[in-house]
This record gives sequence, C-alpha cells and structure tokens, in this order.
Amino acid sequence: MDNESTKQAIRVVADLILSSKRIVVFTGAGVSTESGIPDFRSPGGVWSRFDPDDFTYQKFVRSTETRRKTWQMFGETGLTTDAEPNPAHYAIAELERLGKLDCVITQNVDNLHQKAGVPANKVFELHGNMRWVKCLNCGKRYPMDEIQGRLREGKEVPDCDACHGMLKPDAVFFGEALPPDVLSEATRRSRSCDLCIVLGSTLVVYPAAYMPMYAIEAGAKLVIINLTSTPLDGKAAILIQGKAGEVMPKIMEQVRNRLSAG
Ligand code: NAD
Repeated sequence: MDNESTKQAIRVVADLILSSKRIVVFTGAGVSTESGIPDFRSPGGVWSRFDPDDFTYQKFVRSTETRRKTWQMFGETGLTTDAEPNPAHYAIAELERLGKLDCVITQNVDNLHQKAGVPANKVFELHGNMRWVKCLNCGKRYPMDEIQGRLREGKEVPDCDACHGMLKPDAVFFGEALPPDVLSEATRRSRSCDLCIVLGSTLVVYPAAYMPMYAIEAGAKLVIINLTSTPLDGKAAILIQGKAGEVMPKIMEQVRNRLSAG
C-alpha cells in the first residue's frame, strides 16, 4: 500500500478528482468491511457461512425456516445493528462537502454513507436499505430498531402486530426487482458522469455492475479501489489494490493539499 506505484496512483486519482466535474462513487460491501460488516464473497464473508441459494425472495415468502435463517443471518452480519462509518465513508462525504460529488450509487443497505454525512438525496441505494421493515401483507412499516428489539428478546421470526403478516427488511433480496426510480436515476447519472470511482465491489452482481460500464461507455474515466480483482480491471484508468479506508483518506489528503496550494 505504501509502495511508490501506489503513491503515484493516489496522486493521479487526486488529479482526476480535481479535473472532473461530475463524479459518481459506486460502492459495494467492501467499503463497509472496515466498519465491521462482513462482505459476501471474501474469505470469511457471509457466503462462507450461509448458502446464498437459501436467501431468495421466493424462498423467504414460502418457508418459515428460510425466514428464521434470514433474520439470523442479518443479525450475525451486524446489518441490523448500529455500525459506524469508517474513514472511506468519511472521505466520500468530504468529496461531497468540497462540491465534487455528483452522487454515491451503492449496493449497500447499511446507511453508512448517509451516517457519514452524504445527503440522502445524493445516495442511490440500488438494493434498498435495512432501516425499515415492511409487512408483506398490509404494508405497515416498522423501524428496524423496533424489530431488532424483538429479535434480541428471542423472537426468531417477527411478524406484523397489526395483521400477523410476514415482515421483510426493505433490502432487495435475490429474485426481487430493484426499485425502478432508483435504478433509472442511477443509470442516468452513471451515463453522465466524467469520473466513476468504484470502491469495494467484486462487480459481479447485476444490474448494479452495469453502472460503471455505463460510465465507461459514456466516456468517463474509471478508478477501481478494491482488495481483489474485478472483471472491469482492464478498463480502469487507475487500479489500486488496497483497503478503501486507507486509500480514500490518502487521496482526499492530496486533494486538500492541492486545493489549499491554489
Ligand atoms: P462482494 O462481497 O461481492 O465483494 C466485496 C469486494 O470488496 C470484494 O472484491 C473484496 O475483495 C472487496 N473488499 C473487502 N474489503 C475491502 C476493503 N476494506 N477495501 C477495499 N475492498 C474491499 O460485495 P458486492 O460487490 O457489494 O456485492 C454483494 C452484495 O452484497 C451487494 O448486493 C450488497 O448489496 C450486499 N451486501 C451489502 C452489505 C452492506 O450493506 N454493508 C454487506 C454484505 C453484502
């Protein structure tokens, strides 16, 4: 991470940020691992302990056992509890304060970009969020905090107190459609940015992974900061294999230094 080529790459990303007008930051689970939330596909990630095939929307509505496992999985990953933003989230929020951020397009459901200070209207959550839980029968919504309390008291499969319908987090499950308004606005912004910075994503989950592709097709420069390789590495102007929470603050330090030097 501290070798000369990484330092040079960090300087080039800072230059790109300063010369760009519309920056889209695209994030995945890897931006939140330093906040203690495991990603899905890294060794020790969620899919090394749970089977992804168990977590489709269709299985969730069909089987009480799947609902029990789903609530257990969310509890164990920390997605229902209060994680705190890490330096990568704060660096993105600083980009926004400097007037350089068009928006964040995220696959994450953890609310940490907003918690770090990015205004909610600049965060496009392609996979929904875990702040709310919805009854699939009558539509009543509950804050996650309230449902979390029930889980802590030992309830394994919470249900709606109004109609006893099934409760489901507002996050998008496998086999479920993405929120259409969010997807179309994220697509539009990806197609009109001039710099797309990808942080902490394997770029294998679709349609989310189309966003950086749309950006490249529209002529934007692509920067990828990720611990492991991705299918878009060959298209990146700059590729940094490192931790988002270490690399992003260094990039922002360069940006600040250049801005204060005039
Ligand atoms: P993923 O698990 O497929 O990939 C995460 C990537 O991040 C990996 O390539 C890994 O090498 C990299 N990574 C891990 N820690 C990193 C760090 N500190 N710095 C830089 N890179 C790091 O995640 P994905 O591509 O986001 O796709 C998985 C799906 O999982 C998404 O749909 C997302 O909604 C969901 N998810 C979200 C959360 C969350 O909200 N925090 C957590 C787990 C999964």
